[in-house]
Amino acid sequence: MIDGRAIAKKVRDEVAVRAKALTRKGIKPGLAVVLVGEDPASVVYTSSKAKAAEEAGMFSLNIKLPADTSQADLIRRIDELNSNPNVHGILVQMPLPTQIDPDTIIRRIDPAKDVDGFHPVNVGKMLVGEQDGFIPCTPAGIQVLLRESGVKTPGKDCVIIGRSNIVGKPMAALMIQDNDNANCTVTVCHRHTADLRSQTRRADILIVAAGRARMVTGDMIKAGAVVIDVGTNRIADATTKSGTRLVGDVDFESVREVASKITPVPGGVGPMTIAMLMSNTVRAAEMRLR
Ligand code: NAP
Repeated sequence: MIDGRAIAKKVRDEVAVRAKALTRKGIKPGLAVVLVGEDPASVVYTSSKAKAAEEAGMFSLNIKLPADTSQADLIRRIDELNSNPNVHGILVQMPLPTQIDPDTIIRRIDPAKDVDGFHPVNVGKMLVGEQDGFIPCTPAGIQVLLRESGVKTPGKDCVIIGRSNIVGKPMAALMIQDNDNANCTVTVCHRHTADLRSQTRRADILIVAAGRARMVTGDMIKAGAVVIDVGTNRIADATTKSGTRLVGDVDFESVREVASKITPVPGGVGPMTIAMLMSNTVRAAEMRLR
């Protein structure tokens, strides 16, 4: 079992040490988290990001805007944050209400404060292998999970299910890079992939980010594969107090019988996403010193 909580804690502890060192030099790392509307899942995500920032000794600015905020108003708020010297990282929680175009907002954030790593400048830097940009938190966290679990990636067949801009595509871009944490032969699958099972059965490393509860089953896995489950799906479960339960895209019980290593849901990739956001924010502040 790959323990995402333990590895995330290690990352967050390292971040806290760096944040303290910066604060001593007069720069307290600052993260602005912007939430438009009151989507319940987004409320939970944004408050846990702000809390993690404070726990790491950073300054956090939690900005809550009404659901009917116009695009022009949101852009004004982003411009203010771009020029605020106490804010080193800016995160706008997605999804945004329909009157706001997410791509326009992502492009408005100063790339030097884009700790989500979604701005095209940072996406381009990641693809060409430049080190001075920001890498999206979920794929960056998965690379750390693999490294910290002792998985040797060079020469391995890495199959990714999903091609979203926040997980699948950046994951593929990272795993094809020429370095010791990557150097994989990468296959990216999506809804038009002709025979998904034949692809997954080839995988030495399988990364699943499809958003489909327990779609990957044990018979789809090569013996000894490393399986990373990004999915977070809430399903009905009458045995729990809330009547629901969180499951991944991987059928944990059948896959763990075949895989050599597997991430659980919850407690796998999720904690790493927040830890890497903290890591990106402290790095944004460190870059201010240079
Ligand atoms: P997304 O934007 O909905 O993308 C899903 C991708 O999966 C799409 O590329 C889609 O293909 C592909 N797909 C869906 N069903 C498939 C099937 N049956 N066969 C092959 N491919 C299929 O999702 P996302 O934002 O990447 O997120 C994926 C999951 O990860 C969600 O459950 C999300 O909640 C979770 N997530 C978790 C974290 C975390 O920190 N734990 C972070 C981010 C996301 P098409 O492109 O052809 O539609």
